[in-house]
Amino acid sequence: MNPCNLTQLGVTRESPWAVGHFNIHNLEYVRAVVRAAAAERSPAILAVGMLSIKYMGLAPLIQACQTISRETEVPVAVHLDHARQLGVVREALDLGINSVMFDGSALSYAENVEKTTEVVKMAHDLGATAEGEVGIVPHGAAQVSAEDMTDPARAVEFAERTGVDFLAVSLGSVHGMKRAGTSLNQALLQEVHQQIPVPLVLHGASGVIDSQIQAAVANGIRKINVNTGLKVVLKRHLTAHLASRPESDLLDDFEGGMAAVAQSVAQRMRLFGSSGKA
Ligand SMILES: [Zn+2]
Repeated sequence: MNPCNLTQLGVTRESPWAVGHFNIHNLEYVRAVVRAAAAERSPAILAVGMLSIKYMGLAPLIQACQTISRETEVPVAVHLDHARQLGVVREALDLGINSVMFDGSALSYAENVEKTTEVVKMAHDLGATAEGEVGIVPHGAAQVSAEDMTDPARAVEFAERTGVDFLAVSLGSVHGMKRAGTSLNQALLQEVHQQIPVPLVLHGASGVIDSQIQAAVANGIRKINVNTGLKVVLKRHLTAHLASRPESDLLDDFEGGMAAVAQSVAQRMRLFGSSGKA
C-alpha cells in the first residue's frame, strides 16, 4: 500500500488526532522518520521542500521516500511541500508523488484560487491529494500580523472553490523558529474548523509550545508540519559527537544522528496523538 496519499493515512476532519508531516533532506532523515513511524505504529508524511530539492534533487528524494516507505506496513505518504510553481508540481506528480501542497500565499487571492484549483485537478487526476494555503505563515518573522492570519469567510470560499483535500491556515505560527515560544489564535482555529469541511494544517510547528499544539489538535488541526525542530536536533547531536569522538567511524556518527531524529519524531507522534493509530 505504501506510499499512499493523505486521505489514506487514516486522519480525517473528525479524528481527535493529527498526523505529523516531517521534512526530509537526505536518506538518513527518511530512515529516521520511517523507523519512528513503525516503532510508534503511527502514520507519517515524508515531505520534500524546495530547499531540499535544491540540495539533493527532486527525483533522488522522492525515490528514496518511495523505496524506504515500502519497507513498513504503517501508512506513509510522500508529499511536496510549498510548491510555488506549477512546473515542480507536474514534475513531482510525474515521479509518482502522492500529495502536493501549492503555496499561493504570496499571490493575490484570485490567483491563489486559480492556481490551486489547477494543482488540485492535476493531483486528483493521478489519485494524489492536494493542500492549499489561505492566509500567510511567514518565514523568519518575529510574529504574524493580523492581516496575515486566515480570514474564516475567505477560507470557506477558498476550500469550496479549489476543492483542496487539506487546507493550511495562519493562526500565529512562523516558519523556521529554532525554539518553541509561540502561541496560536485558538479561537480563530475553532471558528475556521467549524465552518470548513476539510482537515486543517498547521505550518511552522517547531516554534509552537507543546500545550498549544495539543490545544490546536483539540480545536481541529489534523496535519502538523515539522522541519526546523528536527534540523536543530540533528545539528546538536552531530556537533556534540563529531567533536568529542574524532576517531569514531563516521557511519556510527550518522547512525547516532538518525536515532536522535527518530526519537524526536516519535515524541512528536505521541504529542500529536498519532501513535498507535496505524
Ligand atoms: Zn510550511
